[in-house]
Amino acid sequence: MENCIFCKIIRNEIPSKKVFEDDRLLVIEDIGPKAPLHLLFIPKVHFSNCLDMADSHDELVGYIFRKAGEIAREKGVADSGFRLVQNNGELAGQSVFHLHVHLLAGRELGWPPG
Ligand code: 5GP
Ligand code: ZN
Repeated sequence: MENCIFCKIIRNEIPSKKVFEDDRLLVIEDIGPKAPLHLLFIPKVHFSNCLDMADSHDELVGYIFRKAGEIAREKGVADSGFRLVQNNGELAGQSVFHLHVHLLAGRELGWPPG
């Protein structure tokens, strides 16, 4: 998508701190971290959120969750705990309408979320 911030990051038109990249997925540090570790898992294909998912995205979303576990282990937060968050729409706080999963870790995370 032409004007999507995350598509621009995927195309390297906007710089980012990359943690992992392959042909399907980009993992970067969030520009405004809300926890000591705050990563974004961004599929390279553009769709806005889970309301916009096609059958063809099912495997990709599973891959994101598996990769999140792997990277949590690599970053040393698997034992202490971490949270995966995916916001859908305005009241949930979604600000970038290209599906992404947040990984938050490194502090106690309140429940229920704000
Ligand atoms: P949302 O609110 O849509 O669930 O999450 C969007 C996230 O993207 C926010 O946590 C915000 O800090 C992050 N973000 C927005 N613009 C950029 C950017 O240009 N670079 C990076 N690394 N993160 C961004
Ligand atoms: Zn996009």
